[in-house]
Amino acid sequence: MSFNKVKGTYDVLPNESKNWVKLENYVRNLYNLFNYQEIRTPIIEYSNVFHRASEGSDMVIKETYNFKDRSNRDLTLRPEGTAGSIRSYVENKLYVNNGLTKLFYIGPNFRYERPQKGRFRQFMQFGVEALGSNDPRLDSEVIELAYQTINQLGLKQVSVKINSLGDEESKLNFRKNLVDYLMPFESKLSKDSKERLVNNPLRILDSKDEGDIEITKNAPLPLDYLSESSKKHFEQLINHLDNLNIPYEVDKKLVRGLDYYSETVFEIHATTDGFGAQNALGGGGRYQNLVKEFGGPETPGIGFAFGMERLLSALEIEGVYNKVENSLDAYIITFNEDAKNLALKIQSNLRLNGFTVDINYTNKSFKAQLKEALNYGAKNLLILGEDEIKNNTIEVKDTLTEKQVTVSMINLINHLKEHKSNE
Ligand code: AMP
Repeated sequence: MSFNKVKGTYDVLPNESKNWVKLENYVRNLYNLFNYQEIRTPIIEYSNVFHRASEGSDMVIKETYNFKDRSNRDLTLRPEGTAGSIRSYVENKLYVNNGLTKLFYIGPNFRYERPQKGRFRQFMQFGVEALGSNDPRLDSEVIELAYQTINQLGLKQVSVKINSLGDEESKLNFRKNLVDYLMPFESKLSKDSKERLVNNPLRILDSKDEGDIEITKNAPLPLDYLSESSKKHFEQLINHLDNLNIPYEVDKKLVRGLDYYSETVFEIHATTDGFGAQNALGGGGRYQNLVKEFGGPETPGIGFAFGMERLLSALEIEGVYNKVENSLDAYIITFNEDAKNLALKIQSNLRLNGFTVDINYTNKSFKAQLKEALNYGAKNLLILGEDEIKNNTIEVKDTLTEKQVTVSMINLINHLKEHKSNE
């Protein structure tokens, strides 16, 4: 019998986890600059948080992990970050203190999708939600943040696509016209698109199927059905983006996977060769009714989410993030029991003084200890032989220059500090 990871999941191994932490720290810093505060909501929610009457997207209908707990409650592993954040915003009445609430989150999501490159069943997202304003300047801030997320990271080969679906009225009007246009082609549409004709017709516009692409070439587009106020909102957003020098292109066929979006929608794509079909790094848009649906006051919102696996791939492909090598300030080499006991104490002392240190716990030969030290990327070998113990000294060998000096024990910390500042 063997034990395997669940299909569509992956392990982040020790030599990979540093880049994850680096990306998470980067996100926390940048999002704090934009005054977004972190929210951490549960991974499990009652199913009705996601399975709402208004939500007919494939993601919610076909891809959620639903199960009963031992008291027969219906629970769902979250497939995305927005619904849980809004549930929490309303349940905790975050709307009472502030005109505007700006949240960000980092965490895993679960979708029962067909696993492939860049598509997993458990994947990590970070994202933001800005709640409480309809101002198109807020749309521009959120898009700027999405753009700066990749720009400040150093990714070059990306494009920002924006579009507007319009308000509810424009959306309904457009949807009706789109369905009228597509009906005569029903039998020629791909299997997925045929199903979407009923549940989620907007998604047919961004189908990757060649037959669908041909059929939708002359299909009605959301921008042609915008109400006056939606048109104005979108025009103002474009002015603000120009003002902020955010590069973008209007993609008239851009729609989003979830039904709750209206008005502004956007996506960030990797344009690197070889990135594969799953090249959307992140996306988002406005949602005007969600807070109300969750029982809160009428409050508009806008947000986005990035997928961390795809971002890390892009960072690797563009050579921005490389494999992080191990590194230790010092590794203590010992030859007998007395030295090992003393090493334990020295190690503890050095660690409390801010040095990364390790010792050998497995009774290895000098050669094996040296190998372990180099594997850990130790910058200094601290060698503790019988003479050193007798004389209250320690040998310090720089692994790069191979220079070795005898240091009195009392001076060890100062010596390493000086050495570190000269690096
Ligand atoms: P969405 O809201 O579905 O557009 O998701 C936003 C971002 O999350 C996408 O652009 C991807 O980067 C990422 N993402 C979504 N689903 C998956 C998945 N199954 N596996 C990996 N990343 C995903």
